[in-house]
Amino acid sequence: MVDTKRKEDCCGCRACEAACPAGAITMREDEKGFLYPSIDPDLCTRCGLCDKVCAFCEAYPADGAVRQALAVKARDEAVRRSSSSGGMFTLLSDQVLKQGGAVYGAAFADDWSVVHRRAETPEEREALKRSKYVQSDMEGIYRQVREDLRAGREVLFAGTPCQVAALRSFLGEKNTEKLLTADLVCHGVPNNRMWKESVAAVERANRCRVTAVNFRDKSLGWHQNRVSMTTVPAKKWLDGEQSYFNLFVRNYILRPSCHHCVFANVKRPGDLTLADFWGIERTMPEFDDNIGTSLVLVNSEKGTRAMEALQGLVEMKQTDLSSCMQGQMQKPGPTNSLSEATWADYEKHGMEYIMRKYTNFTRFKLLRYKVKRRIRYILGLPIS
Ligand SMILES: Cc1cc2nc3c(=O)[nH]c(=O)nc-3n(C[C@H](O)[C@H](O)[C@H](O)COP(=O)(O)OP(=O)(O)OC[C@H]3O[C@@H](n4cnc5c(N)ncnc54)[C@H](O)[C@@H]3O)c2cc1C
Repeated sequence: MVDTKRKEDCCGCRACEAACPAGAITMREDEKGFLYPSIDPDLCTRCGLCDKVCAFCEAYPADGAVRQALAVKARDEAVRRSSSSGGMFTLLSDQVLKQGGAVYGAAFADDWSVVHRRAETPEEREALKRSKYVQSDMEGIYRQVREDLRAGREVLFAGTPCQVAALRSFLGEKNTEKLLTADLVCHGVPNNRMWKESVAAVERANRCRVTAVNFRDKSLGWHQNRVSMTTVPAKKWLDGEQSYFNLFVRNYILRPSCHHCVFANVKRPGDLTLADFWGIERTMPEFDDNIGTSLVLVNSEKGTRAMEALQGLVEMKQTDLSSCMQGQMQKPGPTNSLSEATWADYEKHGMEYIMRKYTNFTRFKLLRYKVKRRIRYILGLPIS
């Protein structure tokens, strides 16, 4: 029976729930909003399948060492502008869709939850583009992928490494010849409850309705990590627009298992690994144009073939792992030193409170922070 006591040992991927033949596992939110399996002892037959399918351990399915590390940019600039980095997901999914296949990735639902979803057309695929820095819900997805593969369709599945490893573990080896997987180098994930509460906080503070969110707005350049929200009525400045992202990126609100992630290394579970090629302006300045470059790790024969099929559609340059290494490819990120206090505040007062207390929520606070940073930079003092 899958052990649900140690939170850091569960990544919330839902593979155990999907695999349970007795329907004995349901996912329940804890006090912070993260999903964990709950087992009905009356239904459980102790078959052990939930344990077997759990891929959040050192023995997760992966093919071996990274074969190639590449800097890649879609030649079509519009593709890159509408993607997080170099537009790799769009190009890979185009290939699969052209062959009548199905593509899986993460999209916003109507209530702003982030959910994994299936697309069969380029129009449906649009919603799956771009990173959403929230744990996407995999409910129903494992079985859907299995059905597609059993029907002989090509499938591209993109997701965090825990989701890719979970899918591979759920499927086993059977009927997987037409499955191409792409895992993301992953900073970690907060949860849907916190994300939705943060959207509501922005709406309340600015008296508007959020109609679109872009976690990777490139209008000021790709090197600027900037979130933008579109609202009704339209507003030029939104209090709290960057707050959720700041809590995420500074490791205040990540899932406990993310700080113990077994995939934060270069033993990758996907045929391909997709990431932002951070630092390219230093390591390959001639390749960087500040519109976005993907780092692609090729991890299997299938991955090699998928990249060959993109010849002509991309600009590509080989690199070595040491020139593209980032923290999340070496070890899991640490918890923020204020994380415990943040969680205590969240449980007591809610999301808006921690957004206001731990981030620059208002225009004045943000401006003051930017001026202080600038002065410290000019004076050569350390910038916090
Ligand atoms: C939670 C998260 C953390 C990340 N952390 C890092 C990092 O630390 N370093 C780094 O280099 N890159 C990170 N990335 C990856 C990076 O942001 C880009 O996704 C990657 O460079 C691919 O971009 P692209 O231009 O090829 O395609 P895009 O069109 O931007 O493709 C994004 C792909 O990610 C999938 N996706 C989006 N949101 C989620 C989600 N919440 N869960 C699962 N899949 C999702 C989409 O369906 C799509 O397949 C992270 C991505 C996510 C989702």
